[in-house]
Amino acid sequence: MRYVHVSASGKINPALYVGPVRGDGYHDLDIFFESLDIFDEIEAKIAAKGPVRIAMQGDDVAGIPTDGTNLAVRAAELLRERCGVEDSAELIVTKRIPVAGGMAGGSADAAGALLACNELWELGLGQEQLMDIGGEIGADVPFCLLGSLARGAGKGERLRPIRPGNMHFWVLVTFGEGLSTPAVYGKLDELRAERGEDPDKALANVKTRADQLERLLGEQDTRKPARLMTNQLQEAAIALRPDLGEAIEKIGSLGLVTILSGSGPTIGILGEDYDTANAIAGHARRLVPGATIRRANGPAAGAHLRIVE
Ligand code: ATP
Repeated sequence: MRYVHVSASGKINPALYVGPVRGDGYHDLDIFFESLDIFDEIEAKIAAKGPVRIAMQGDDVAGIPTDGTNLAVRAAELLRERCGVEDSAELIVTKRIPVAGGMAGGSADAAGALLACNELWELGLGQEQLMDIGGEIGADVPFCLLGSLARGAGKGERLRPIRPGNMHFWVLVTFGEGLSTPAVYGKLDELRAERGEDPDKALANVKTRADQLERLLGEQDTRKPARLMTNQLQEAAIALRPDLGEAIEKIGSLGLVTILSGSGPTIGILGEDYDTANAIAGHARRLVPGATIRRANGPAAGAHLRIVE
């Protein structure tokens, strides 16, 4: 192949429950994922030997590394090493997923790079093999390949697809300044230690609620699952970013349920239908003037091939 173009979707987490820290530094999670129709575009061209190169274009890409630490480059290099590929690749990523927003932008690019390079280098790996390699790059990468709606155990890589009930009309409140994922998890551990909470019991305590959410996500009425959406990182994210707490409070004053995505700071609000979501977006623009308000629909497809030449 000479040229491959992949679209890779961002995600929101309809629920995120956090257990204890594991030996590898990750936390045990019970985590729900939903792909949204906000896509990064990854173009890959064959290149002669040498390291995989990347160019990032689009808004807010100034702080994203373009060396070997870029997640898309790391994913492509890992695939190359595992499969003993001699060719290299040139990647161009057009960013649309907010950076450091809790929407798995970097993981989506890693997933997109795996899919694109698998085609480009004609490796023939299947989705599960790519998901296994992706899991070594980051906890969200396997889901970014799977897409749609799923529940994850472990660090989020042991995924069970959920059959979607209805389309979800989301309103996203995104902020210019991101939040560091390790800082938010660290803050949660600190808050729990201060309160003497036992993180080993955290996941068992919420299992019934999480099981109920999984069932309700498969039903037509989206108001029921909306009431069960919880993110246990929210308190820690607000402790680090008080403006986030203010935004959540203002939106909550309209009687709307907000859900923090991942480690934030992106907030999602689930509208009942298209018109309601557009009306909520209008309210959010007025209430949180410093934020960017976007509309997104889910569940969308995960990373997928668009053009192969
Ligand atoms: P998650 O939801 O998986 O916790 P996030 O959406 O909060 O992730 P990202 O947008 O993935 O955060 O960015 C996190 C950090 O990763 C940024 O500081 C960024 O510099 C770095 N990074 C490395 N590669 C990429 C990439 N291809 N795209 C975006 N960020 C990248």
